[in-house]
This record gives sequence, C-alpha cells and structure tokens, in this order.
Amino acid sequence: MGAEPLPGRVVALQANYCLVDLDGPSALGPDGRLLCTRRTRLDKSGLQVCVGDRVTVASVDWRARRGAVVGLEPRHNLLQRPAVANVSRVVVVVALAEPGLDPLQLTRFLITAEATGQPVQVVLSKADLLPAAAVEAWCRRLEGWGYATLAVSTCTGAGLAALRSDLEQPGIAVLCGPSGVGKSSLLNALAPALDLRVAAVSGRLRRGRHTTRHVELFPLAPGALVADSPGFNTPALPGDPQTLAAAFPELLARLRASPCRFANCRHQGDPGCAMGGTWDRHGIYGRCLEEVEALAGARCRGGQGRQEEG
Ligand code: GDP
Ligand code: ZN
Repeated sequence: MGAEPLPGRVVALQANYCLVDLDGPSALGPDGRLLCTRRTRLDKSGLQVCVGDRVTVASVDWRARRGAVVGLEPRHNLLQRPAVANVSRVVVVVALAEPGLDPLQLTRFLITAEATGQPVQVVLSKADLLPAAAVEAWCRRLEGWGYATLAVSTCTGAGLAALRSDLEQPGIAVLCGPSGVGKSSLLNALAPALDLRVAAVSGRLRRGRHTTRHVELFPLAPGALVADSPGFNTPALPGDPQTLAAAFPELLARLRASPCRFANCRHQGDPGCAMGGTWDRHGIYGRCLEEVEALAGARCRGGQGRQEEG
C-alpha cells in the first residue's frame, strides 16, 4: 500500500462510489478501474466529484481494487447536464427523423453546450430516413447558425468515419441530445467492444426508451475519452440574458461586426439594433429570452419578498 496519493480520472459515479482510471500503467493492468469511496463534499464549499474530474486516490487495496478519493484538481470547465468536468468538446446529437428535428430543442442543447466555452458541433443522426437533398439543407441551415455539422447514419455507415476522427482527438468528448436519437447506436458503431444497450424506438412519439442511466467515460483511442449520457429532453436555460446571447454564435458574430446602438439591447430588431430584420433563429432566440427574463423576474420578486420578511 503506497503512501503517495495516485493521480487518476473519475470515469463513472455509482451511488456513494466512483470509478477511477489511474494514470499510466498500474498494478491493475491495462483497463483497471479502482472502485473508490468519495466524501460527498471534498471541501468546505460542498464541491462534489463529478465524471471527468482529475483526482488523487489513497488507501489503495490492489487486490480488492478499492481506494479512496482524497483530492480534487481544479476544473477547467463543467458541462451542467450531463454533469461532466473538463470536457474538450461537446457533440450535440439530434435525429433528422424519428423523432423529427426540433430547432428549439436543438437550440436548448446548444446553449447548455456553449456554457463550457469549448468547441461545439452538431451531429444529425438517422440520415438514412430523409432524402439526400433534405439532409443537405439541414446541414447548410445549421452551418448558418455557426456550427460544424455532420450527417450520419448507423444504418448506412454514412459520416461514421468522419465522426470517429473527431471523437478520437485527445480529451473528453461528450455526446448529448434528446433520448432516442441514436447516441448509443453511434458509440456501438464506433466502438463495438463497448456494447451499450440500445432500445427499440417505442410508442406513438417514436422516441427511444431511456437506456443510458448514468454518464460514463469510455476510451475510444489513447487519450480520447467519450461520454454517452442519459437522455433528457429539455435542458435548462441560463439565468441571465447576457449569457443567453453569448450562446448564439451567429448573434455574436453580427454584434462583433456591427455593435448595437443600445446598451442592454434585446436584439429583437428595433431600429439601430445590429440584429435588425429577421435571422433564422430570431424567433427561437426571442422565445428563450422571454423564458430567461420571466425566470429572472420571478427570482427578483422572490428575493424582494424574502428581504421584506427579514
Ligand atoms: P439514444 O437514446 O440516443 O442512445 O438512442 P439509441 O441508440 O438507443 O437509438 C434509438 C433508436 O433509434 C433505436 O431503435 C435504434 O435502432 C434507432 N437508430 C439508431 N441509429 C439509427 C440510424 O442511423 N437510422 C435509423 N433509421 N434508426 C437508427
Ligand atoms: Zn440589438
């Protein structure tokens, strides 16, 4: 039992434990993972370990493959949902059909992804279900939003080689998107050894059943980890309008080229607004903005209420 804490990375959480991949070759062998206890709070602020975290492990029992997380390195970034720390890129996956592509829902996933500050790309799955011209039109439209976009199909194999070379870049890539769009199928096609469970699309809405229950990091290539995540359908929006605006690359590009005449502009096309006229996500941005403002308003009123009481 070594006295020096060993560095590693959290690859999965399980109840009160986490699985840690130790750095470099260890007594565990090539794909050894240590089951580690984790204090629910690692510091006074209540910080908890999260998948993707760099940690140090002590009290290692090599035969039982157990240890204890005793230290947490500062995070570079955090994807809120699924909760993954230190991500290198976020791949938002939505289906072209079954379930059909909903631009507002896609936007909500993109907003969550943008909060990491890391590169974000879009994968359009089930390309076999639409005519090539329609697939191409969706790709052009999303590129117009400012996103590198790739159409793929696990049925025909289209786009899989390109996706593989993206995901095999060093670092942590997270696949996120609504349930049933084919994220697990994609990972199975890219790394058959992982053998993730895939559910049949079920029910009237033709949505897949939830099969991935916990977020977990899988090695795709040396130094390249990929996370499949539990499906969820409505990511939360940020708490303030500035953060929201910063999550629309096409809006940011226009504002950089010609700033608005108004401070605190809502960019809804008033005269003098750089985003005057219509743009593709004008309506979507407006709907998100209203939601963010309504939530902020509710928070403000709640805060005042509490002040009056105190
Ligand atoms: P996840 O919830 O995003 O992980 O989605 P799954 O991988 O579980 O897939 C949901 C359903 O979509 C399954 O029935 C898959 O067989 C189906 N599916 C996955 N990829 C494709 C594809 O490229 N084309 C078609 N037509 N169906 C697909
Ligand atoms: Zn404006």
